[in-house]
Amino acid sequence: MKKIDFTKFDSLISVADYFDTESKCKQTLAESRWGADVICPHCGKHHCKLSKNGRYHCTDCNHNFSCTVDTIFENTKVSLRKWFLAIYLITSNKKGVNSHQLSRDIKVTQKTAWFMLQKIRRTFFQDDSDALTGTVECDEMYLGGAEKNKHESKRTEGTQGRSTKTKKAIFGMIQRSGKLVAMTVENTKADTLMPIIKQFVAQNTVIYTDESKSYNRLKKENYSHSFVRHNDNEFVVDDIYTNTIEGFWSHFKKMVFGTYHFVSKKHLQSYIDEEVYRWNTRLMSESARFKFVFSKSLTQCDCKML
Ligand SMILES: [Zn+2]
Repeated sequence: MKKIDFTKFDSLISVADYFDTESKCKQTLAESRWGADVICPHCGKHHCKLSKNGRYHCTDCNHNFSCTVDTIFENTKVSLRKWFLAIYLITSNKKGVNSHQLSRDIKVTQKTAWFMLQKIRRTFFQDDSDALTGTVECDEMYLGGAEKNKHESKRTEGTQGRSTKTKKAIFGMIQRSGKLVAMTVENTKADTLMPIIKQFVAQNTVIYTDESKSYNRLKKENYSHSFVRHNDNEFVVDDIYTNTIEGFWSHFKKMVFGTYHFVSKKHLQSYIDEEVYRWNTRLMSESARFKFVFSKSLTQCDCKML
């Protein structure tokens, strides 16, 4: 990516001032992607010219394309200026931005704002490129469903009486002082959780959990496993606790209930991705977080959700 000084983007007004026209946005987008050497997305050659209408023409294969091709902005009528402001808003707000708020902030319809947020969330996708190591806490959380059936520590405020159709299990793994990974799971049985742990957590890692039987196989799988008995109100024994991952569940619930009010099962993973992104980048500056998502938005993230 061409060097843009992202450190200047430390407030909404700084983003609005810099990206003051649509042509400036397009120019920045093109330079960020290709530098001075525009590449044809169709044939991969470099014989491209900028036409008067602001689109590019490949003199090799005659393909016409826009600077937004293969990005999250492709085929949308929303101006790039609004897109960039939306990215700043979602990355700088600690509890996220819902579509109603975004529609008021950047003057688009609520439906468009919802669609934009979903597209931006694609840049938050999680992968297993860096295995978790050191000390890792694993835990499950249930969203929705009958609260009275759950252990006290797993209850979610404000969901009592909701349809059990909304009940969904979420599984999380967090490296202390490191990365967090979380995802929806069909259930929290050992057969479901063990392959996920093996995918994301390096062998011989120290894993702390609660007393759930789903974790009984960890030692056999070459992990060092200890647990606390939440059912006996035992939460911390020396270094053994799951308070870090539970702190994340608490943030997640605040975002879901405070900002989005309700999330459907279908889209739950994208909200988890958003909050995992927020957690993993919480020590970054606002401008660094904006840069992170801006860079990812330049490639269409069709990667499958976890
Ligand atoms: Zn071409």
